Amino acid sequence: MRLLLMGPPGAGKGTQAEVLTSKLEVPHISTGDMFRKAIKEGTELGRKAKEYMDAGQLVPDEVTIGIVRERLNEPDCAKGFLLDGFPRTVPQAEALDRILASTGRGLDAVLNIEVPREKLVDRLTGRRVCRACGATYHVLFNPPKAGGVCDHCGGELYQRSDDTVETVENRLDVYERQTAPLIAYYRDKGLLQSINGDQPIGQVLVDIGRGLGRDWV
Ligand SMILES: [Zn+2]
Repeated sequence: MRLLLMGPPGAGKGTQAEVLTSKLEVPHISTGDMFRKAIKEGTELGRKAKEYMDAGQLVPDEVTIGIVRERLNEPDCAKGFLLDGFPRTVPQAEALDRILASTGRGLDAVLNIEVPREKLVDRLTGRRVCRACGATYHVLFNPPKAGGVCDHCGGELYQRSDDTVETVENRLDVYERQTAPLIAYYRDKGLLQSINGDQPIGQVLVDIGRGLGRDWV
């Protein structure tokens, strides 16, 4: 099964991807992870990507598309894959179509995990980190025993600048602006499946399975 997983920051995409790839026995292809790994290993692609990232620029499409093409043509993708983090734009989606078409393949479905915006803001702004040991908490989902103090070491908990309401609202704005045309692109092709991500993880998975014609869990 060849799937694309989409969803805004805070939608729980990482967790779903992990469970889905093990249920479907297909590789999880995350362009973010691939870049991080390439950079860590110092490959040619990693060096190229790092140059752009260090300059505060987006990695250009031809670099990203090249790495995705190579990965999708590896043997373990013959039985399918779960693609995550790519495509982000319509030109990238068109490139993906060409990559797959060149080996007689196509996407089976695009899973779009939807969560109301105010819930995403709650999820993303609730994180607190210990200044001393780095342990992470969530004010709603994983609160410390005593407010503002780390359970492990008694250190002070703080909110990272990435997690403030302003930054989070901005990240969500960018995501929505970027992906709206992509969602329309896949809806027009009849591939889009909207998944309600505002429910327990197990139920989200049941819904995804139902949409794919799989009766699991
Ligand atoms: Zn601590």
